[in-house]
Amino acid sequence: MSERPVIAWFDRDLRLADQPMLAAAAACGRPTIPLFILDEAGHGAWPPGAASRWWLHHSLAALQRGLADLGLPLVLRRGPAEAVLRDLLAETGAAAVHWCRRYEPALRARDRRIGSALAASGVEARSFDGGLLCEPEEARTAGGRPFRVFGPYWRAVLARGAPPQPEPAARPAPPAAVPGGDHLDAWGLRPTRPDWAGGLREAWRPGEAGARERLRRFLDEDLRGYRRLRDRPDRQATSRLSPHLHFGELSARTIWHAVATRTAADATLAGDAEAFLRELGWREFSYQLLVAHDRLPEEPLRAEFTHFPWRRAAGELRAWQHGLTGYPIVDAGMRQLWRTGWMHNRVRMIVASFLVKDLLVPWQEGEAWFWDTLVDADLASNAASWQWVAGCGADAAPYFRVFNPVLQGAKFDPDGGYVRRFVPELARLPAAHIHRPWAAPPAILAAAGLRLGTDYPAPIVDHAAARRRALEAF
Ligand code: FAD
Repeated sequence: MSERPVIAWFDRDLRLADQPMLAAAAACGRPTIPLFILDEAGHGAWPPGAASRWWLHHSLAALQRGLADLGLPLVLRRGPAEAVLRDLLAETGAAAVHWCRRYEPALRARDRRIGSALAASGVEARSFDGGLLCEPEEARTAGGRPFRVFGPYWRAVLARGAPPQPEPAARPAPPAAVPGGDHLDAWGLRPTRPDWAGGLREAWRPGEAGARERLRRFLDEDLRGYRRLRDRPDRQATSRLSPHLHFGELSARTIWHAVATRTAADATLAGDAEAFLRELGWREFSYQLLVAHDRLPEEPLRAEFTHFPWRRAAGELRAWQHGLTGYPIVDAGMRQLWRTGWMHNRVRMIVASFLVKDLLVPWQEGEAWFWDTLVDADLASNAASWQWVAGCGADAAPYFRVFNPVLQGAKFDPDGGYVRRFVPELARLPAAHIHRPWAAPPAILAAAGLRLGTDYPAPIVDHAAARRRALEAF
């Protein structure tokens, strides 16, 4: 009699290497049916945004190819996960459903329901850890509570020692019969605006192989110098691994051990490695916060911000979204986001501070725009970071810290290379004026071919006045 198969339910773990579901299936020798369910409603208020859908399409295509090489066709089904699983179990007689743990509140609730229903019907339901360095519940304060401050949290994670070594790709047995499924193209995950997708295609290679190549390049070319240059948006100095991490194309522990191996071979990399792993720590900290606070994406962690006097300023919000605020570093960031689906971390902080403090627009508006346009849109990191900038989150930037977009631009993009790349109207301005075009002498503007207010907007707010207004409101 043939063995009853295992369903390996992929979601945000779109990889073959260090994939505990496949390792467990291979270890027990049972035939395996890899499955992906497009369950938009299961995400509650946060179904994947447009940029994430683009990434998902290509990452699934890559996973399909990788699994096919192992003789394992990926079954694609769409609909509520409960119903899809019920049907597939009935069709295949599978004895078990395996998945990697998900941390988003709506998905956690859904997975709990599914786990109980499966167990009640005699089907083995098994969830594996989700590829973090440290499961959120495993780091706790001395009082047994979740951390609210990053420093002690990260020290507690480091004190646990290195995470487990990543496992090589396993090779489970294929099923005797392949259940039917959808065609990826029929899901319409790619955007209808081809010009937008063109920018994403140029910038990224979704999928496990692209993720590994990105990691290799970072280790070879950019890890050295990371600590010194990571705040410079005009340089290629950070890893750009965030979308690969979000979709689970690489596990965090794979990155950890790859960095540790380099550092063991060359001790002069230790400072850069420490700074880089600390950033992975912020990601872990965000997950820990999200698991402890289901409403993190919607509500301020600090209750005193509940009645904050935010402004509804649709025109200013639109100017911010389209990179037309008249502040070059802000506009360069927002246009980088639109063109490539990604923005440098320093610039994310600058544009977020501008929206929340200079414009007094609610942080949730910025969070929602990022959610739709970032290829690395991540419920935990996005919500925690917006709350951090707004001053209402855990371990947040103090409310009186209002980034000055001119000084930030001059400090982190000193030659203006970043602004020139994304705001071509300003390309011919000399560095001394590029972060403050409104203050440039008319002769300089004329020589740069720039008519302020026509080719490029005048600032939509006066930063000094906006800062005073923000401090009063805060
Ligand atoms: P690197 O500097 O190479 O860092 C390595 C990895 O560490 C990143 O890939 C990322 O997974 C993690 N990381 C780095 N910085 C942070 C951070 N501050 N918080 C959490 N994780 C971090 N990151 C997301 O992945 N998704 C988001 O939706 C997101 N939204 C953000 C919104 C705002 C307002 C801000 C200020 C930051 C946000 N970040 C988000 C964090 C950070 O900007 C990105 O993770 C980082 O820019 C990704 O680039 P990188 O991979 O080159 O980072």
